[in-house]
Parts: sequence; C-alpha cells; structure tokens
Amino acid sequence: MKLLMSCMACFQKLGKPTNEFVTLEFRDDGRYEVCCSRGHTSVTILQQQKFEILFDIGANAIIDGYYREAISSFTSSLERFYEFCIKVFCENNSINDDTYNKVWNQVSKQSERQLGAFLFLWTNKFDEVPELLTNKDTKFRNEVIHKGKIPTKEEALIFGNTILKIIRPKIKQLQFLFEKEISSVIFKHLRDCSKIESDQISGGTMCTNTIISLSSGEESHNTQTLESALDSILKWRVLIENTESIRNQWSQ
Ligand SMILES: [Zn+2]
Repeated sequence: MKLLMSCMACFQKLGKPTNEFVTLEFRDDGRYEVCCSRGHTSVTILQQQKFEILFDIGANAIIDGYYREAISSFTSSLERFYEFCIKVFCENNSINDDTYNKVWNQVSKQSERQLGAFLFLWTNKFDEVPELLTNKDTKFRNEVIHKGKIPTKEEALIFGNTILKIIRPKIKQLQFLFEKEISSVIFKHLRDCSKIESDQISGGTMCTNTIISLSSGEESHNTQTLESALDSILKWRVLIENTESIRNQWSQ
C-alpha cells in the first residue's frame, strides 16, 4: 500500500507540482520524506488519523489475499477510532494534554479498558448506547486473531463492511456536535508529527482519500461498500505501478 507524493519545495518555488512523483510506504509516525532530483528534502505530514489508514491497510490486505491480516487491521482501525473519540470528548471537556496522556497511559495496554472508556464517554455525550461489534462478530475476530482461524475472503469482506457500519455513522454524529474538537485533535496530531530537522524543508500537510474519511464530504464516498472501495484501490494501484515504471525508465 503506497502513497504518491511530489516535492513540496519544488511546488512552493515553481507554483505548481512537478511531474516528478515518488511512491512512499505508509508510516507509523505520519511523516513522509521526499528527496527530489533538485536536491530538496521535504517532510510532508499526512493529516489522516491512524484509524483511517489502518482500515485502508485492511482493504489492501484483502486485495492481496491476506484475509487474517485484513481482520487484524480492521480490528485495529476500530480500536484506534475509539481512541480518537475519547480524545475528541476529552478535548470537549478541555482536559489538558498532560492529564490526558497520564490517563491514557493507564489504559493504553488494554483494549478492554479503552472500550470501557469509550462506552461511557459516548453514552455521556450522546445519551445513547453506541453500536459495537456483536458477540458473534467479536467471537469471529477472536478466533482469527487469537486462535489462528483462517477466514475466507467473503468473511473478511463481511467483517470490513461491519466495521464501516459501526464507524461511519459515529463520524457523522461526532462531526455534527464536535467539529471544533475534531479540528483540534487533528491539529495536535499534525503539530506532534511535524518537527523539522535543519536540513529539511517543511512540505506542509496533505490529505489522502482513505475509505473511512474524516475529510471527505462526498456522500457517495462515505456510503460506498468495501467491495466498491476495493475497485477504486485497484485503479489506484495501476496508476502507482505506471508511475514507478516510468521512474525506473528515467533512472536507467
Ligand atoms: Zn524539489
């Protein structure tokens, strides 16, 4: 799974993107370093949150035939979405970062604790019990992740669509009531990722079009099934492969 980027320093100097693109693997720290042929080294920060990226990694795993890995990434996406919600709610209550980090450390190693925190905070803010994975879904997930069950493609697709149905309506609810807090959480994420070394140029921030998306306002994007999202990823992969083959021709 790869990202396509061009040099932001060239973009800033020329006022338009160059035809020189690089493909980069997704990273845990959200920082993407581009070295261009004009000698710039720029660092661009990806705006997407962990849960948005992880869901896409799961989708790519289905395309590649790794269905256990898909279930694992979808599960992580949901868990990181709970974390994102907890951050938004704490932001709404003006909990300072230091206090938040100290409390998060108490739950960071146990997903059941995080789920408990999410459940009560969500109920407190929305006065409703949030829809979660059913017992059947949870049993299936545990069999795959903890007992070595090998799921079929069909099961991976069903599980992925289930995660979409859990997360997407909650994003809408969050955006309706907590837009300011969401912006603040994203801002803090970008701030924490964007420490620039002296020989680097800030490439600013960028968005990528993930399947689960805080930034896409398009209804068709936000309601598409996992199956149709996979079709779009396949088209994207062709574009990336063409870009890489053109670059290889140049460098020969
Ligand atoms: Zn450049």
